[in-house]
Amino acid sequence: MQFKDIIGQSDLKKSLVETVKNGRISHAQLFLGKGVNGKFALAVAYAQYINCPDRTETDSCGVCLSCKKYNAMSHPDLFFSFPVNKSSKGGGDSDAKSREGGVNRSTSSKDLISTMFYKDWLSYLNSTHYYPELQSWYKKINIENKQGIINVEEARRIVRDVSFKPVEAPYKILIIWQPEKMNMSSANVLLKFFEEPPAHTIIIMVADEKDQLLKTIQSRFQIIPVPRIDDFELYAYLKTKYSNFPENQVKNAVALSDGDLQRAEHILGDGEQMKEHFMLFQSWMRMCYKKGSLEEIKTFVEKVSRIGRENQKHFLNYSLRLIRQSLLINYGHPSLNKLTHYESEWLTKFSPFIHINNGIQLTEKFEQAIFEVGRNASASVLFMKLSLDLSVLLKIPQ
Ligand SMILES: [Zn+2]
Repeated sequence: MQFKDIIGQSDLKKSLVETVKNGRISHAQLFLGKGVNGKFALAVAYAQYINCPDRTETDSCGVCLSCKKYNAMSHPDLFFSFPVNKSSKGGGDSDAKSREGGVNRSTSSKDLISTMFYKDWLSYLNSTHYYPELQSWYKKINIENKQGIINVEEARRIVRDVSFKPVEAPYKILIIWQPEKMNMSSANVLLKFFEEPPAHTIIIMVADEKDQLLKTIQSRFQIIPVPRIDDFELYAYLKTKYSNFPENQVKNAVALSDGDLQRAEHILGDGEQMKEHFMLFQSWMRMCYKKGSLEEIKTFVEKVSRIGRENQKHFLNYSLRLIRQSLLINYGHPSLNKLTHYESEWLTKFSPFIHINNGIQLTEKFEQAIFEVGRNASASVLFMKLSLDLSVLLKIPQ
């Protein structure tokens, strides 16, 4: 992965290059930013740049032995850690035998480490062009209904693997994707490691949410904010990739994507998940408003409890977005260009129900639910409680 392969982010690329030129590479860095904005690809390109003996003023060479090994993700001084879990099918995935280390039915969840999933990880990274996203990763390893974790066994594995001297590069580089998925025990093991990392070691964590990391861990890392992808850059990229699409459709996807590559491509594709969430939200709001719909609500809660945590989080975030847009429409500040055709059509009818007397409370209820889903609250309790709250709030008159 080279800087030139990453969409936009030119200021950040420049400042990363500067750290190498000035010999001021921090040994613990946290690449932080929401969504699929290229932060992971940047971390890999930065690592490759640091270790490339023939790097230029702007990028790694791409052809030296070190770069070749980076391209194949086989460099002996490059390490990854990422969340995994055991699939409901009993193994790590349906093709466990093909994986190094292997995951079989007898491997318990607490013994799972990310290296057992390395082949899946590589093929996943290649398929996403190094723009990973949690939900599609879970899908790849068949754990859509669970959360991946970075457990204590994985933390010990990291400490073991990274403790040796670099084999051939100036630096060993460890990239931890989604460190938010550490639990308390693994965080404690890693905290000690982060406090006194071995010499010639650089640790890069790539995260969406700083607040889900222990404060003591946060304080060990230099934070590198990674902004959303610039609209113009995202448009230029998508226009080339989807050259057969009408220009307006690409522009629309960029406007709706909030600088998130995956979201933009999703909208450009069939937008299946978004449409599913829209329909689910629509029927949910109807049943919460209607009197005597407890049975319907129970069926809804059962359904939504089965879609998996990450999907629930996406759905709640999506719902919150529609609530906010409704408030904007109701108060004469519609940003209809940020809505799809079917969303804006329905929201013009729904928005009168979201107003000054319930808007703030509704927003808070959704924010609370999103927080709780992230904290592993019981989905059925959470969605039932939220539905009952909505039933009351939606009936408050304007
Ligand atoms: Zn090179």
